[in-house]
Amino acid sequence: MNLHEYQARALLKEAGIPVPDGDVASTPDEVERIARAIGTGVVVKAQVHTGGRGKAGGVKLAADPGEARAVAEQILGMTIKSLTVEKVLVAPAVDIASESYVGIIVDRESQRPVLMVSPEGGVDIEEVAATTPEKIFKSTIDPRFGLLAHQATAAAFRLYPDIKQVRQAAVILQQLYAAFIDAGASLAEINPLITDDTGNVVALDAKIAVDDNELDRKPDIADLRDVSAEAASEVAAREAGLSFIQLEGNVACCVNGAGLAMATMDLVKFYGGDPANFLDIGGSSNPDKVVTALEIISADSNVKSILFNIFGGITRCDDVANGIVTATKQLAFDLPIVIRLTGTNEELAVEILEGAGFSALTDMDEAVQKAVQLAQEAA
Ligand code: GDP
Ligand code: MN
Repeated sequence: MNLHEYQARALLKEAGIPVPDGDVASTPDEVERIARAIGTGVVVKAQVHTGGRGKAGGVKLAADPGEARAVAEQILGMTIKSLTVEKVLVAPAVDIASESYVGIIVDRESQRPVLMVSPEGGVDIEEVAATTPEKIFKSTIDPRFGLLAHQATAAAFRLYPDIKQVRQAAVILQQLYAAFIDAGASLAEINPLITDDTGNVVALDAKIAVDDNELDRKPDIADLRDVSAEAASEVAAREAGLSFIQLEGNVACCVNGAGLAMATMDLVKFYGGDPANFLDIGGSSNPDKVVTALEIISADSNVKSILFNIFGGITRCDDVANGIVTATKQLAFDLPIVIRLTGTNEELAVEILEGAGFSALTDMDEAVQKAVQLAQEAA
């Protein structure tokens, strides 16, 4: 789950990191009011779950409340990387002397959090990593001890020649680590971490992504979820208890179990196709889940064929079959469906499907090839 900048800023502030004040607004009126209360020039920033807002015109300075209002009128409602801006953050504008990057991510290779800092801040860190990787300094954190003072100081020396700034930054890095752990984050990033015209180190942007598996343990963080900022298909899938991953291709893959999903997608690729998504209906026997799954799939205009690949264990094939029959009656859609089921109540499922005019396969290769072929014919 991604947090908005204004939410992430609040968490950083709680951890003690210097962050300019600010407030969130969803109308130009509110923006004007907040700007008036701030009393100085402000920055108006689009609150969407993506970086690169600056480049896209989603971050703008305004000298007075009237200008803040005008700028908010431009930013509210604009689309950045296919996300509509519903809210903006209004904060006092800061004079920037330097911009650097600091972030902590969970690193799969070392299986630990890794601190990354770079004096090249304010820009895409992926670009710095690709073109000038030597400008990124990394330090692996042992979770038993946390980010140690000497590690934080060594990293801060990579950012600033001034000892006062090094000390400030070292404290901020340790506070960032505390915020990262408290939130159950998989990523916590400040880009840019700036020095202002008085030489102080301040966080000007904040990005926190939380591991969904942490949310049950952290209800306060879970409450920060903004459903309006998420894709409708993802929200519907989550609410129905389905694991759903949107991909780029045109063969929808409806399966039960993550392992089977991987195998199915591998096979789709093997036969020259491209998965449009993977949708895992899980281990339960509930025809309603199948109806929701087909609803989500049919809402995606990229989908050209639907492949069901069900290995019946706890999931009963007849339940899936009933779900398919109910869904195709309820939802008016004309996408071709290829069904492969095997396992618990397989014979009954075939009977139900054939009774409704579908054919069911038991061979996975055959089913995948057919689904790929149908998608290619329709594309
Ligand atoms: P991002 O592009 O989505 O990462 O959004 P940021 O919050 O990082 O803002 C992009 C850029 O806008 C920053 O790197 C700064 O250069 C600039 N910016 C943001 N806030 C201020 C501010 O208060 N004053 C000034 N002068 N520039 C700002
Ligand atoms: Mn940024």
